[in-house]
Amino acid sequence: MLYSKLFGKTQKEVKKYESKNQELLVKAGFIDQVAAGIYTLLPLGKRVLTKIENIIREEMNNIGAQEIEMPLLHPKILWEKTGRWQTVDILFKTKSEHHQEYALAPTHEEIITPLVKKFIRSYKDLPLALYHITAKFRDEPRPKSGILRGREFGMKDLYSFHKDKEDLHHFYQKVIQAYLKIFNRCGLKEIKITEASGGTFTKKFSHEFNVLTPAGEVDLIFCPSCSFAQNKEIATKKPGELCPKCHTQLKKEKAIEVGNIFDLDDRFSQSFDLRFVDKNGEERYPIMGCYGIGTTRLIGAIVEIYHDEKGIIWPKTVAPFQLHLIGLNLEDKRVKNRCYKAYQRLQEKKISVLFDDRDDVSAGEKLTDADLIGIPVRLIISKKTADQIEIKNRAQTISKLIDLNQLINELTN
Ligand code: ATP
Ligand code: MG
Repeated sequence: MLYSKLFGKTQKEVKKYESKNQELLVKAGFIDQVAAGIYTLLPLGKRVLTKIENIIREEMNNIGAQEIEMPLLHPKILWEKTGRWQTVDILFKTKSEHHQEYALAPTHEEIITPLVKKFIRSYKDLPLALYHITAKFRDEPRPKSGILRGREFGMKDLYSFHKDKEDLHHFYQKVIQAYLKIFNRCGLKEIKITEASGGTFTKKFSHEFNVLTPAGEVDLIFCPSCSFAQNKEIATKKPGELCPKCHTQLKKEKAIEVGNIFDLDDRFSQSFDLRFVDKNGEERYPIMGCYGIGTTRLIGAIVEIYHDEKGIIWPKTVAPFQLHLIGLNLEDKRVKNRCYKAYQRLQEKKISVLFDDRDDVSAGEKLTDADLIGIPVRLIISKKTADQIEIKNRAQTISKLIDLNQLINELTN
């Protein structure tokens, strides 16, 4: 991609935002705020989201889940069936010209349960796991912290159906492992899992996946040396007390909730009278689980963790491009030629590269922009680099000279 053609450039000055991720994502040209809690993802932001979604897709498919896509406009009658038309306070309700009322999807139990009812009959059809990755709408009272809390946002939600509780618990553990892999692959190595009550959406237990950062809204009580963690709202332990598992002193820190999984039991199977015939020929309600990951929130969480005073530092796996190629001294025909040749070779080798080809911008400005955008590897071609390329990691200060072929070999092996 030529930077001169990229839609959504860096901005020198942005207004003061409450959160660092919002400031950096707006300034670097990843997102645009439409209104409180409503965002457009610009090409750079969309590329990051797609990377995250594909990691999630791979890990969901690996545990046998199948991808579908459910609608966002939900007939009122379905939400009345579960009693949630009246009880969910963040539900966006809308009326059509034809006197029909709808909810804008905040979650999808009201669609998936009647959908599955159309297709399953017997225990042989179970277990079943379906997921989708789409927008959600929630009428959040105070959307702040940028894309960490939107009124419209991206989510992956997975729903599973089981013949009994034991089978649900078996799958639930598999999802926990898949979630840890997903967050790990997105660069979030240290995830604190807390057990909580189900909140608005269910009375059964749930587990939250949290990333420690001062930018978070959640207060976590956790053990710095083992996996013990509690959400402060329900905590039985206080900071300074000893960990019940390993006797280390507990700490309290802020965290962002990036995922949440729930045991729904037969709450929704009952509402929609979804039944199956078991081995003994008896009719029963399937036990359900639901499992969410905030895909757009993840973008914000990653930026909160990976940035410095100059800008974002994307983990390789979710970076919008593999390389940021900067051409300096482009008024020199030979240098310009070398830049375009390198750009072409990299593209031929399917290495994604953002090429700063602008010839009306100073070297300093290009370098500042590269640091702000945060692509993990920066290349410079200039008069000084002669036949070689200067290469530097965004997270490091030392650079070295490398040959283009050598670079391509390293990246393709
Ligand atoms: P929170 O406690 O942060 O309000 P929640 O518990 O209501 O979130 P869930 O219903 O568990 O959210 O949704 C699954 C995931 O979707 C959350 O773990 C979070 O990552 C993401 N998410 C929820 N609400 C928002 C929002 N308003 N904006 C962005 N992401 C969100
Ligand atoms: Mg939650």
